[in-house]
This record gives sequence, structure tokens and C-alpha cells, in this order.
Amino acid sequence: MNLDIDRQHIWHPYTSITEPGPIFPVASAEGVMLTLDDGRQLIDGMSSWWCMLHGYNDSTLNQAIIDQTQKMSHVMFGGLTHEPAIKLAEKLVNITPAPLQHVFFSDSGSVSVEVSIKMALQYWHAQNKPEKKRLLSHSCGYHGDTFAAMSVCDPITGMHHLFSDLLMPQLFAEPPQCRFDEEWDEKYIADFKEKISAHHHELAAVIIEPIVQAAGGMRFYSPKYLQRVRELCDEFNVLLIIDEIATNFGRTGELFGCHHADISPDIMCLGKALTGGYMTLAATLCTDKVGQIICSGEAGVLMHGPTFMANPLACAVANASIDLLLNSPWQKRITSIQSQLTEELSECKNWPHIADVRVLGAIGVIELKQAVDMNVIQPQFVDQGVWIRPFGKLVYIMPPFIIKPEELSRLTQGMKTVINSIK
Ligand SMILES: *Cc1c(COP(=O)(O)O)cnc(C)c1O
Repeated sequence: MNLDIDRQHIWHPYTSITEPGPIFPVASAEGVMLTLDDGRQLIDGMSSWWCMLHGYNDSTLNQAIIDQTQKMSHVMFGGLTHEPAIKLAEKLVNITPAPLQHVFFSDSGSVSVEVSIKMALQYWHAQNKPEKKRLLSHSCGYHGDTFAAMSVCDPITGMHHLFSDLLMPQLFAEPPQCRFDEEWDEKYIADFKEKISAHHHELAAVIIEPIVQAAGGMRFYSPKYLQRVRELCDEFNVLLIIDEIATNFGRTGELFGCHHADISPDIMCLGKALTGGYMTLAATLCTDKVGQIICSGEAGVLMHGPTFMANPLACAVANASIDLLLNSPWQKRITSIQSQLTEELSECKNWPHIADVRVLGAIGVIELKQAVDMNVIQPQFVDQGVWIRPFGKLVYIMPPFIIKPEELSRLTQGMKTVINSIK
């Protein structure tokens, strides 16, 4: 592989053209293993950013794509429809909370967040309440990189000041302070409650990640918090958008994050693991009420329609991935990943340079007291035979669900060895 061309011409995510940092060429991937161009093998601790539930090169998923290519790889979705999209919509409506009835397909998580925001704005516009146009979110959240999505990301890490003239001015509550299994106290919701009660007349929606604030801080919070958010949204007549893009399809131990709290949002965003990591696809679901009101408005339609909407290859592999997941002992697998992570990472709690260790479902996080230098630490993980990509003070893993205990041990061992060496 010609890495010079990569360096000269390709932007990688959040990187500099002049100082791109280390980059590792991947030749192939199978199961939980990435094989580099030079033959080295790495156990993937990232699931390619939350996506690869069943591992790489899965024969069932491969076959689903091959079969679909023999019928059609793509067809426009305006005025036409197809079996893979119909099957997928039916599945999603069946497995998400019952009030969610309408599915809008798009091509990435960020776009599904844009669509969710557009739905909320059109909903209030149709009811002659155009003043309800702001969003309330949490600090430490992450919802994507497009402009509306960016406006609800953490203002500091999302660098809002760079875009301050352009971003819609949103409201931010303190991130939830109660840990996942901590006893509930109303003080935890006080700041959120104050913001929603002071601003509900101008709020279209609350948008939050359920149970896990992922890319914005890897924070886990109590289901009770989510229940209180639902209650307060109802009390103050504000829509609730739940961004499940990181949590969806079992990652936290429930199929969806909002299942922990037994609540239903008005609008839900799905993405990342939707196709088992094979192709880019996302979906925004809404209740019948939201859908009906949007379509009663001035536009009469939802004003969105991506070119590659409901791509048949992506829908076909999503169907295969969801079937594979639901027919697997996924809950048992995640419970054992959770116990093993808890056991193997707990010793780090006592290390002087560690601030916190936390585990939920198939997610393990070690939070350091100081930020790590990614350019230094990344090659060290590779030397340990693991693929882990930390950010800031956070070194974390969320492996494919099919990982074997001995592979998971190599992952946690690699994490501990590298972290121990930088104290
Ligand atoms: C990754 C992520 C997104 C953005 O998805 P993309 O596919 O990268 O556009 C949005 N919300 C959450 C919670 C995410 O984790």
C-alpha cells in the first residue's frame, strides 16, 4: 500500500494534513481480528466505532449482500419501494418501543439526527408555534458532525466558538451526575428541570443519548434520570428525541438504551450497528402523532429525501444483522463480557494515575487523570496486538459481541500494560 499517497492526499477523521500522526494500513479483517499490511494481527477493541457486532467477514452478512447485488444494488426511493426496506421498517417498528411507528431511512448517523431535528421543528411549525425552535441537550454529549447535529454536541469539545455565528444557539443542561446503578435523588435532575421549566415555550425538543453519553465522555447514567426526562418533557410539552446511535442493538445490555428506563421517545435515531457495521445506514423513527402533525402543516410533507435513502444493499445487510443478533444468545454474551471486563479492569481503580474505571454491558472504560498523547499511545497498543483508540483521558473498549474470553483477556491485558507504562 502506498502510504505516501495517503499522507499527501487523504483526510482522516479529525486529523491534520501537515501532522497526520501514525496510520496503520489494514489488509483484511476476520472475526475480531484486524490483519495489517505487514501481517501483524490486532484484536479489535473498538468494533470500528460501535458498529461490528458480529465481527468482520461474517459469512451470513456477506451472503446477504451478495444475494441482494443479484437483484439490485440501488434504486431511487422517491415513488419506488422494495422488499429490503419494507422488511427492515417492519423489524424496526417491532423491536423499538411501541409508539414509534414511522421510519425515515438515511445514510449516516449525523443525517438521522438532522432529520430528527427537522421533524421536531416541522411538528411545532405545523401547530403555529414557530417560536418552539430551540433544543435542550446535555454537555458532554455527541450527536454528529453536521451543523444542526454539531449545535447540540458538547460546546467545548465541539468547539462551538469556531462556528458561533453559524450554529443554532441551543441550551445545555449539566450532564447527568448519577452513575448507572446509583440510588436516585431528585437533585440529579435539578439543573435539567430548571432549564426545561424556564425555556419550554421556546423549546422544540430535548435531544439526548440514553444511559451512555458515548463519544462526548463515555459517561454512564441512571435509568431513573431518563424516566424523569420523559416525565418533564410531557409536563412541559417538549418533544423527546433519543439518540440511540451508539447504544442501539444491545451494546448496553438491553436492545436499546431506553429499554433500561422503560420509556418511549417521540423520535428515535438509529445508526452505527444497524447494519452490523457492514454499510452506512441510519434511521429516524417517530410516533404516529408526530408524523400526522408534521404532514398536516404548511409543507404537507417531511422536507427531506437523501439520494441514497434506504439503499437496498444496506437494508438487506441490516435485516440479516438484526436476525443474526436476535437469534444469538446476545444477552448472555453481553452479560459475560460485562462480568469479565469488571473483573479484569477493576485492579486499575487503585492505580494513582487512574480517575475512574467503569463498565456497562459490552463497554469498558478507564478514565485517566491526565489526557493521553494519542500519537504516542496508539503504536504502543499496536505493539501489544490490540486495536484501541483513546481520546483525551479516556481509554475504552467496546468489542464485537462474538469475542471469546481469551481474546477479551488479551484486550484488557493490552490496555493495562500500556496504561501502566505511562504513569
Ligand atoms: C456516532 C454518533 C453519531 C453520528 O453518526 P455518524 O454516522 O458518524 O454520522 C450521532 N450520535 C451518536 C450518539 C453517535 O455515537
